[in-house]
Amino acid sequence: MAPLRIASIPGDGIGPEVVSATIQVLQQLSKTLGTFEIDFTHVPWGTDYYKKNGRYIPDDALTTLRQFDAVLFGAVGAPDVPDHVSLWGLLLAIRGPLQLYANVRPVRTFPGTKSPLDTAKKGIDWMLVRENSEGEYSGQGGRSHVGQQWEAATEVAMFTRVGIERIIRFAFETAQSRPKKQLTVVTKSNSMRNGMVLWDEIAASVAKEFPDVTWDKMLVDAMTVRMVMKPQSLDTIVGTNLHMDILSDLAAALAGSIGIAPSSNLDPTRKNPSMFEPVHGSAFDITGKGIANPVGTFWSAAEMLSWLGEKDASNKLLVCIEEVCAAGFVTADLGGSCNTQQVVDAVCAEIQKLG
Ligand code: ATP
Ligand code: MG
Repeated sequence: MAPLRIASIPGDGIGPEVVSATIQVLQQLSKTLGTFEIDFTHVPWGTDYYKKNGRYIPDDALTTLRQFDAVLFGAVGAPDVPDHVSLWGLLLAIRGPLQLYANVRPVRTFPGTKSPLDTAKKGIDWMLVRENSEGEYSGQGGRSHVGQQWEAATEVAMFTRVGIERIIRFAFETAQSRPKKQLTVVTKSNSMRNGMVLWDEIAASVAKEFPDVTWDKMLVDAMTVRMVMKPQSLDTIVGTNLHMDILSDLAAALAGSIGIAPSSNLDPTRKNPSMFEPVHGSAFDITGKGIANPVGTFWSAAEMLSWLGEKDASNKLLVCIEEVCAAGFVTADLGGSCNTQQVVDAVCAEIQKLG
């Protein structure tokens, strides 16, 4: 049995804490189930690396990553480096060139979490699909007359037909694979009359390939209201890089905590390794205290196993995590009193019961 080869990039802040917690859990899962082997290679990129080398990743970073089946990522960002420097230095420097164009974020109300929504008692079960390679975050634009009163800055959202088509098709396929077969396409095509209108046109044309999927479109502002007021009316949701960045934080908060939210950065063509990471960031306010919630990274690892073909192991891991949360072994962000290691130990004990 060839082991799954995983590059782990713990990064900054609580990244190393949640990644090391996840490695322990995956090793236990592999040991107990015996259906897959997994091999981790530590990759030391992050802000310490940047301070020593003047850059976040080396020249041959992409060649290095292409040797692996997948990447498990923690977080990047530090209080003494501007966020746009660390983000573009590491995360966006990997996502773009590896063409990890689909950012997938499952959002579900989880046992042991409290949602701010009453209606969520019935449960939220969404699949958010974020365009991850272009749009508002394509880095296009510039500044002129710097420092002067008439200084101007442009931030150009660049959309391509190829880029839009592939993410919309991926979203329809995702919706088709889920029981409700329902997709909502989010744009802002009333006030943005170029890229957003192209999104609407392409959505309507790709929809014809999926007659069994019910779909509708929403303006992003109205969508925030619908997520709060009618959460059960939604299933799969797709939108641009910026819109889904914002909506997925809202979604994570509505489901209970950013500490449990997972994300996958996928190359659906499978030419490059995909990257899996919790939605939360480096959280320096709790770094080093050993209290970070590792569940978002566990869940991301379950998504990774599923992507790599280990669906049974992935489902079993998710069940174990849910059991542990339901039994109240949760960290302070979910109102519990466990530290990170206690959650790891509880999940490992649950996994051992599978043996
Ligand atoms: P970054 O700049 O990397 O995005 P951040 O600190 O600005 O990091 P988050 O890491 O998303 O943003 O944290 C937002 C808040 O949520 C912080 O107060 C943090 O302590 C809390 N938080 C985030 N992740 C977790 C976690 N895994 N467990 C517990 N609390 C968390
Ligand atoms: Mg931040």
